[in-house]
Amino acid sequence: MNNPGKVSIIGAGNVGAACAQRIAERGFADIVLLDIIEGLPQGKALDILQSAPILNFGSRLTGTNDYQETADSDVVIITSGAVRKPGMSRDDLLLTNMRIVSEVTRNVVSHSPNCVIVMATNPVDAMVHLAIHVSKFPRNRVLGLSGILDSARLSTFIASELNVPVEKVSACVLGEHGSNMVILPRLSTVSDTPITEILPREAIDKLVERTVRGGAEIVGLLKTGSAFYAPSASITQMVEAILLNKKKTLPCAAYLEGEYGIKDTVLSVPVELGRNGIDRIIELELTPEEKQALTKSAEAVQGLVEVMNLG
Ligand code: NAD
Repeated sequence: MNNPGKVSIIGAGNVGAACAQRIAERGFADIVLLDIIEGLPQGKALDILQSAPILNFGSRLTGTNDYQETADSDVVIITSGAVRKPGMSRDDLLLTNMRIVSEVTRNVVSHSPNCVIVMATNPVDAMVHLAIHVSKFPRNRVLGLSGILDSARLSTFIASELNVPVEKVSACVLGEHGSNMVILPRLSTVSDTPITEILPREAIDKLVERTVRGGAEIVGLLKTGSAFYAPSASITQMVEAILLNKKKTLPCAAYLEGEYGIKDTVLSVPVELGRNGIDRIIELELTPEEKQALTKSAEAVQGLVEVMNLG
């Protein structure tokens, strides 16, 4: 194998296939795409592979329904599961996706016992908790997609509101990937100036509200399906940081064991990513109000975990 790693993607739907395409085009891994639907992962993998002569990438792609093909993966991305329909919250997916993620995690662990699991399936914080429980992996090897996507959404809205290039914008979103996400305007900047010094309170409130509803806005527009372009870009950034051992700090859903005063709960916080998954959890200095909001976020995730009754 010429590539630094092997990535398996479970679920060849919108998010899974878009991840396969993005990772292949960046060329840093060989990819196995797996789904329960016969022909779907095989067809999508073949289609992406046939773009290699045009785009000049060397990643190998395999589509399969058989976990044998995923054996000894370095990273496994889990995207299998139901998506929201208009009017649904991510939490409404809990029991359906709990069954799927439990079964998938068992299969992943038995074929790739040393992998890092990157969870996309919603509600993602609860699904990371579940995957840690089922896999018995240490917490550094199971993380979820949330903060990168939520911050990217806020950055996009700030850039468009102020008509500035998006690369000048940095946004900070922590907490639950859901209605209790914690948006920190104080730490969200344009050219290093906090947006609290640039925009009036009402304008910031609108950007915050649109970010919290960012996923629902897209579900409402698409009507059948949910976002996958920005989610797959976010996952690709996480996987690249892990496989290439970049030691890059990115906000991800991570299992907290006392950081931020929160225990046994998965929330999005800044983490340093490298070959072992999470190398370090970074603790930002928060105001008492921000800490309170993060605690409320944690309580929402704990409520979902209780419903799963993991024992
Ligand atoms: P999709 O419906 O397009 O694809 C899901 C795929 O999973 C389908 O192809 C289905 O056949 C497959 N699948 C179902 N059960 C399976 C099993 N047991 N084994 C293998 N494959 C199985 O959905 P999507 O748009 O790709 O979204 C996937 C999940 O990711 C959803 O739960 C969605 O809510 C979530 N998501 C999360 C984020 C995030 O920020 N964390 C962002 C986008 C989507």
